[in-house]
Amino acid sequence: MYGAVRDDLRARLDELESNGLLKRELVMTTPQGAHVDVAERGELLNLCANNYLGLANHPEMVAAAHEALDRWGYGLASVRFICGTQSLHRGLEERLSEFLGTEDTILFGSCFDANGGVFEALLDERDAVISDQLNHASIIDGIRLCKARRLRYANGDMDELEARLGEAADARFRLIATDGVFSMDGYAAKLDEICDLAERHGALVLVDDSHAVGFVGPQGRGTHAHFEVVDRVDILTGTLGKAVGGASGGYVSGRQEIVDILRQRARPYLFSNSVAPVVVGASLRALDLIERSDELRDRLWANTRSFRARMTELGFDVLPGDHPIVPVMIGEAPAAARFSQALVAHGVFAVAFSYPVVPLGTARIRTQISAAHTDDDLELAVSAFVAARDETGA
Ligand SMILES: *Cc1c(COP(=O)(O)O)cnc(C)c1O
Repeated sequence: MYGAVRDDLRARLDELESNGLLKRELVMTTPQGAHVDVAERGELLNLCANNYLGLANHPEMVAAAHEALDRWGYGLASVRFICGTQSLHRGLEERLSEFLGTEDTILFGSCFDANGGVFEALLDERDAVISDQLNHASIIDGIRLCKARRLRYANGDMDELEARLGEAADARFRLIATDGVFSMDGYAAKLDEICDLAERHGALVLVDDSHAVGFVGPQGRGTHAHFEVVDRVDILTGTLGKAVGGASGGYVSGRQEIVDILRQRARPYLFSNSVAPVVVGASLRALDLIERSDELRDRLWANTRSFRARMTELGFDVLPGDHPIVPVMIGEAPAAARFSQALVAHGVFAVAFSYPVVPLGTARIRTQISAAHTDDDLELAVSAFVAARDETGA
């Protein structure tokens, strides 16, 4: 039987390859950081990690992970509700609630799992979810897993959101779901307006703040804090795999009863292993570092401002904004792919994104700035962009 399946898969892979859509992983031989070694290419300046605060290989994080390993062991070999909850896990949940300004928090193995579990546990066929068109794949999949009616609005289009709220007025509950920051553009959701609309229509609000927690808003508390809507967002989801350490883990944080029911009903929580103690312990240290001072955040924002300014000055088409996601627009997919290869040849690691991840004709190099970058790193990045532009004619 496999023969026919193999032929089909081969054909699909060949098609991806001939359309330039086959993803090839560059294999690193070093820890994550501002500079990484990549097999056959040598040292590259890394402009494509979600390592916003540089915690992925921060010495204090590594030390905290060692301490947690020694104190709490390697694994739990259990889901949370059987025998997989250590006081460490409750400690991180409480700590996240304090940090985010919520009533309670429940950890998941990843934010993908958090989004995979949250909708189905809360909503059924009597309800409706109204989702921003550019929401992360995990939100889309999470919504698919629940029986609620699904409505979409164009990215950030508040009029369309309001129209969808009206269309779903007969639903028992309506939930607006949005990313806090959209990962392809670095644009923030207008959470103040979204909360206004939610209140006017009696809807709930869920924000996935994966690309913000740790550095956006006062003390890095997130997009909801930036927009001063901390008490008006009902559900926050997020990852520990980006700014907050970068290893793995995710959470849902919010109203008490919502978290309580998730502990009873969220399938990825009930049927998937506890987050490893090493990750939980180090995540607590990440929150220490995030709360202790503004130093890493200040560095990140200063780096971002200077990189955005230099690139704009040099005539690159940088999407406007202030987020450390800095998309450099190229246009067509093959040109963006060539551009990315030229960057690598000049020692800079930055990935091209094209359709279907972004709309046709808006292929781009998405750069992500980190607190771990130095001024010299940013200067190298800018020179590599100029050289790649000269060489590819993009
Ligand atoms: C990265 C990301 C996720 C997935 O997080 P993991 O913890 O890696 O599963 C979910 N949502 C958004 C918006 C993200 O950017």
